[in-house]
Amino acid sequence: MLEDAILEKEKRPDTKPVNELTDGFHLLIDAFKANGLNTIYGVPGIPITDFGRLAQASGMRVFSFRHEQHAGNAAAIAGYLTKKPGLCLTVSAPGFLNGLTALANATTNCFPMILISGSSEREIVDLQQGDYEEMDQLAIAKPLCKAAFRILRAEDIGIGVARAIRAAVSGRPGGVYLDLPAKLFGQVIDAQEGARSIVTIVDPAPSQLPAPHSVKRAIDLLKSAKRPLIILGKGASYVQADELIRSFVEKSGIPYLPMSMAKGLLPDDHPQSAGAARSLVLKESDVVIMVGARLNWLLSHGKGKSWGAPGSKRFIQIDIEPREMDSNVEIAAPLVGDIASCISALLEAMGGNWQPPSSDWIQAIAQKRETNLARMATKLQSNVVEPMDFHTALGVLKKIMKEQPETMLINEGANTLDFARSIIDIYKPRKRLDVGTWGIMGIGMGAAVAAAVETGNRVLAVEGDSAFGFSGMEVETICRYNLPVCIVVFNNNGIYRGTDVNPTGGPEVAPTVFVKDARYDIMMQAFGGIGVLAHTRDDLSKAVNEALESGKPTLINAVIDENAGTESGRIGNLNPQSIVTKT
Ligand code: ADP
Ligand code: MG
Repeated sequence: MLEDAILEKEKRPDTKPVNELTDGFHLLIDAFKANGLNTIYGVPGIPITDFGRLAQASGMRVFSFRHEQHAGNAAAIAGYLTKKPGLCLTVSAPGFLNGLTALANATTNCFPMILISGSSEREIVDLQQGDYEEMDQLAIAKPLCKAAFRILRAEDIGIGVARAIRAAVSGRPGGVYLDLPAKLFGQVIDAQEGARSIVTIVDPAPSQLPAPHSVKRAIDLLKSAKRPLIILGKGASYVQADELIRSFVEKSGIPYLPMSMAKGLLPDDHPQSAGAARSLVLKESDVVIMVGARLNWLLSHGKGKSWGAPGSKRFIQIDIEPREMDSNVEIAAPLVGDIASCISALLEAMGGNWQPPSSDWIQAIAQKRETNLARMATKLQSNVVEPMDFHTALGVLKKIMKEQPETMLINEGANTLDFARSIIDIYKPRKRLDVGTWGIMGIGMGAAVAAAVETGNRVLAVEGDSAFGFSGMEVETICRYNLPVCIVVFNNNGIYRGTDVNPTGGPEVAPTVFVKDARYDIMMQAFGGIGVLAHTRDDLSKAVNEALESGKPTLINAVIDENAGTESGRIGNLNPQSIVTKT
């Protein structure tokens, strides 16, 4: 034994032990991994190229995009789907600004996300001496996101990342900006000290229980209702309390209306779904309980004609953000807390002998729903063969989504969005990702990448030709990572429709039209993906089924009648119009 020990000692080199070192790059990676953040969406460049390489070498998944906005949109959707902040990594100034659009959008939608941008040196930026890509990024990000931090010392990386994560996911989730000056990455500190500086966050999004008296107030109001209605928003689908929400809806017997991204929280063909009787329930209900949905423009701010007679409505609102209450109309029973805790409390307070709403109310809704669904079914079965219109094409996709309900549906456009939202039923929670609170264009390919990466499921992206154009170059990203994404471009030759003409007869085409009969399908082929030109319902059905079967990156150019479609889809009323006639 003693001999062994002596031998062992002789083997060791005679040099003094040197402390192991670590640096900013590695500390950042360690800090993310310690908190279960293993995926980065970004665009490489100065000063973060090596960070991406090292992150990948450490086993993180790193997805490079062609433009930061789409990497950011992917990170935002990753946040929505996982309840962990999606990470987006960008270069300084212009890259940062491109990512910032996505960060602001994530914040607006209450999705947790962290935008990490490399930045130029403080000394030069603050004296405005004209550094490479100089910009005071922290100051610019601050008003556009939930929180913004800068880390200057390697030993602060652990705590800085912890602050960013907690800010993103706690309370109302949102976007966080993390500013990392180039110098930080190379800073070296003792490895043991570094390891101690990493923070593994305990309970990043703690439960927030509603006050018992607010639960009682809500239940009393609900009991007094003659024509109650539940509105489920994407906050309700975000929280992943699917069973709890389902029990609440079913136990209460109250009809519910899903906001677009809450579709599928309960299947759209659920008997209590009032989706197909939307106008009726908004107008006629007397007590409305909002669950993770806001009374913003998407719900006409809770007032006006669509909400029936003034004063006919009282609201219960469940939200984690206290300031959301009374944002647009008076909330009679605010229930501030996290959705899971609030719903649990309501379920308990409902007790064993809960009375479902009167059968008059239920029947009125059922009748309206049947009429509307029957009318829709006729439209979907129209015999128009070629060119397809929105209904013809969407009838095909509706059927496919019913047969393959695990498919992640991405949807953007104007008419393509409006029609798809009401025509395509969703059967499982968090399967529909769309333009969200801002109603923006450009989320398509970023959302498609994140949906594929985060869920491993097949992805079907239903895109207006205009909407697709905002992120179209990311088809290369989809092909490069060989993601199971099937894009269907509804090609009607333009924005809203393809028939506008230049009234002057001048050489430039009208501002809303594109190249006629553009071959988006060939774009996909350029990167080794599958491109299909679909003129008919059968073409479309065959191509989508093949794509979902094979999982190969596919783009189907669905030719839609250029006369189909209306100005701005269903929100044309938001367009100001000139009434001046020039003589
Ligand atoms: P939709 O567009 O579907 O109506 P919104 O994005 O307008 O949905 O509303 C989502 C709401 O959900 C936000 O007001 C947000 O504060 C809230 N929310 C998000 N997470 C939670 C949570 N864990 N508990 C309670 N409310 C939440
Ligand atoms: Mg179009």
